[in-house]
Amino acid sequence: MMFCKICGEERRGFRIFGLYMCKECFNELAFTSVLDDKYDIYKNLVRILLSYYISDKKRLSPKGI
Ligand SMILES: [Zn+2]
Repeated sequence: MMFCKICGEERRGFRIFGLYMCKECFNELAFTSVLDDKYDIYKNLVRILLSYYISDKKRLSPKGI
């Protein structure tokens, strides 16, 4: 098991875009409404995923465009 990047708990889960996430967090995110106060967690996740995505892009094209 690894530490979940979202809740910080050591739980069983899986990797998405290089980000380790537990099943509990994934289920919460999958069923979270934008009106829910957990939306902040969702926004944090998107920001993390985007930063991973951007850093992957930089690795693939180090000279940039
Ligand atoms: Zn979690």
